[in-house]
Amino acid sequence: MSEQILEQLVAMSRFLGVPEHHLAILGEGNTSARLDEKHFYIKASGTTLQTIQKSDFLCVQMEPVLALLNDSSATDTDVLETLQSAKINSQDNRMPSVETILHAVLYQYPQYMFIGHTHPVYVNSILCSQRAEEYIQGRTCPDHIVVLGRKSVFIPYVDPGLVLARTVRDKVKEFVETEGYLPKAIFMENHGLIAIGPTTSKVQAITLMAEKCAQIVVGSAVCGGPKFLSESAIRRIDTRPDEHYRQKLL
Ligand SMILES: [Zn+2]
Repeated sequence: MSEQILEQLVAMSRFLGVPEHHLAILGEGNTSARLDEKHFYIKASGTTLQTIQKSDFLCVQMEPVLALLNDSSATDTDVLETLQSAKINSQDNRMPSVETILHAVLYQYPQYMFIGHTHPVYVNSILCSQRAEEYIQGRTCPDHIVVLGRKSVFIPYVDPGLVLARTVRDKVKEFVETEGYLPKAIFMENHGLIAIGPTTSKVQAITLMAEKCAQIVVGSAVCGGPKFLSESAIRRIDTRPDEHYRQKLL
């Protein structure tokens, strides 16, 4: 079971690291997979997605990592010490990714099995612009809605690590309460994309579609600016049975 999950995680990570996809270079990005309700695998800090191997993932306990969220006095040192001690293999002195807390937050939703976080070039062209939220939330075409959903979560820039994890926890909770469904993508201003789903193929599809639609939006700037679909058109696509069928096949 755990071997199978690891193999899928390695394949997804390498896919996200393919240079031609322009999603992550060097040690950028991180990926993870839920093992059970108490543990998950996360990329060791500094490893490269393109060439990652099973041994580059660390098994981490969720509970101590999540406890940091409610500890208002936690310092940078406390975070590092907790991440080190949360590893199942205490003999291993490698460090879990700095965004481990963020992954633990998302695994509180049992439907999420895999997470892929990348810094795609076009997505970040929008996220590092003056119109980040407006352009990232706009929906360009039916496939955009089929793969990414009607709306995504937008996170304004905050300090990476603990503060970011707390912000994502609050924004995702707010999203689920308001929208009534789980988000497929989270966009972090001046940072990058988080694709989340029940399978690796969904995470890959969300990432590729987010990057393609971002490229379309950026490209539309030379043709007078993007023209997004109306709220009623978005709702119509989202409720059509043929689009639901396509969604399931992804
Ligand atoms: Zn990042």
